[in-house]
Amino acid sequence: MARYTGPVCRLCRRESMKLYLKGERCYKESCCLEAKSDGNKKNHQKAYAPGQHGSTPRKISDYGVQLREKQKAKRIYGVLEAQFRRCFEKANSAHGITGEILLQLLERRLDNAVYRAGFASSRRQARQTVRHNHILVNGKKVNIPSFLVKPGDILSVKEESRKIPGIQQSFETSEGRGVLSEWLAVNKQSFSAEMLRLPERNDIKYEIQESLIVELYSK
Ligand code: SF4
Repeated sequence: MARYTGPVCRLCRRESMKLYLKGERCYKESCCLEAKSDGNKKNHQKAYAPGQHGSTPRKISDYGVQLREKQKAKRIYGVLEAQFRRCFEKANSAHGITGEILLQLLERRLDNAVYRAGFASSRRQARQTVRHNHILVNGKKVNIPSFLVKPGDILSVKEESRKIPGIQQSFETSEGRGVLSEWLAVNKQSFSAEMLRLPERNDIKYEIQESLIVELYSK
């Protein structure tokens, strides 16, 4: 299955929550889900599910609820079905709570860590930053977005890439986006971040009911 290249705000509208897929715009009033409460009529029209019948309330089955939770997690982390399934299999075979390990594995992806460190304003931009060879892990070039970082790893932006306006601006405004996480210690001077420990469930603020994803895949 190819990666989704359509309008990403539709995905947030489908899940009825902000998935933060568009970088800086997600933190502005122009986000169609922000407009819900500000009375802006033009934007308010889009604050419901996409499609002709998007504004009509529908009864959703148990399977539908589980499916939506899976789609939500997949869309937040920008992974394809097969990648997500592989992550689940890995979590399922590990010791511990499967749902929490699944989220931990998604958080540990290099593209997510780059986003969390503030080197990119969205995971999509982070993936591109990794793919374009701007990121080093422990001083070595790594251009695989699904690479799993581990405690002790140091991520940094390549010296010659630090002047790229997109990266520079993302890094300068990262605190305002509230994406920084306690499992990463960011060093503003050296454009780097050290992974201090594994991400825990409390570090992941998204409203995802991971147990429903486990139920879905366990059928
Ligand atoms: Fe669009 Fe970002 Fe708002 Fe989602 S959170 S609807 S991607 S602007």
